[in-house]
Amino acid sequence: PLVLGIETSCDETAASVVGRGADGRPVVLSNVVLSQIEEHAAFGGVVPEIAARAHAESIGPIVEAGLAEAGVTLDEIDAVAATSGPGLVGGLIVGALVGKAIAASRQLPFLAVNHLEGHALTPRLTDALAYPYLLLLVSGGHTQILLVSGLGQYERWGTTIDDALGEAFDKTAKLLELPHPGGPSVERMAREGDAKRFDLPRPLRGEKRLDFSFSGLKTAVRQIALAHAPLSEQDVADLCAGFQRAAAESVRDRVTLALARFREAYPGLEHPVLAAAGGVAANGEIRAALREATERQGVRLVSPPLALCTDNGAMIAYAGLERLEAGLTDPLSAPVRPRWPLDETAAPLVGFGK
Ligand code: ATP
Ligand code: MG
Ligand code: FE
Repeated sequence: PLVLGIETSCDETAASVVGRGADGRPVVLSNVVLSQIEEHAAFGGVVPEIAARAHAESIGPIVEAGLAEAGVTLDEIDAVAATSGPGLVGGLIVGALVGKAIAASRQLPFLAVNHLEGHALTPRLTDALAYPYLLLLVSGGHTQILLVSGLGQYERWGTTIDDALGEAFDKTAKLLELPHPGGPSVERMAREGDAKRFDLPRPLRGEKRLDFSFSGLKTAVRQIALAHAPLSEQDVADLCAGFQRAAAESVRDRVTLALARFREAYPGLEHPVLAAAGGVAANGEIRAALREATERQGVRLVSPPLALCTDNGAMIAYAGLERLEAGLTDPLSAPVRPRWPLDETAAPLVGFGK
């Protein structure tokens, strides 16, 4: 079956067609992403009003481009999936409405996909990966460790008690006057910096819970920046390197603990996997920390390519495909949900999914 996927929850307007090859593996036929980064750059963050208007303007051409790049017409599509939450309500309404309109006009099944489920299932799109696996989701809005034990079966083992990691990168960049989005800016500057020059905290280190905290780290950077103002280029680089090192060590520490619990929960699992998803998983030092934590415990690390780590339509189409195959379609009356925790996502009957 061919599924058209639409993503509009934040600042990317995206459409993709995903199907299955003869071998049963998923195939991404197209993956068109229009980023609004330019439109929001001057404001140092995503402005909801601007985002909603930009989605409304580009959704038509983006869906057409998604179909054209896949070389298919709507006649060949078997189902339509659209992100229905969580996210900014304006964008969600635009994407869900267009998805439902296409589904209604063609009498196709509609799938109201949770954006986080899209991120959570992406490792199954890019790698032959069976349930269960442990997932680290590190994005602009979320920092979570999740047990993925089946389609629709997500258990949150840990989350951030304050800022998401991507948010902490973005805020740190902003206070150091580096360009938005902050993650890549901080990583670039950190290359020239000395991570040991400033003493930065390692929040929650050694604690037995699997939660994260990053706002203290960000505050420490601010205090050092104020104390050393005006900052030289080298000061900024050293602060970026120190921040990134602290973030990576914190991730390594939490993930190490989570992997030990995962192995305890599934002692018979032959090939335990940690999957990393979300934009921050693109960071070289974070990736290195994850490699270290997984190698030490004999766990395989699966990190999808960057284009599928950040927001895209393929992850929504793929989650829709798994749901379609499980018979979990949604009515056209399905609401959009700006807040929609992943563990409130409908699960199929226990026992489904391998
Ligand atoms: P969510 O999925 O939680 O709604 P989002 O979709 O906006 O949030 P993503 O698109 O997955 O998040 O990722 C964007 C975030 O990733 C931004 O905070 C950005 O700064 C961060 N990021 C991107 N590249 C890097 C990098 N190289 N290093 C660190 N952070 C990065
Ligand atoms: Mg984004
Ligand atoms: Fe996302």
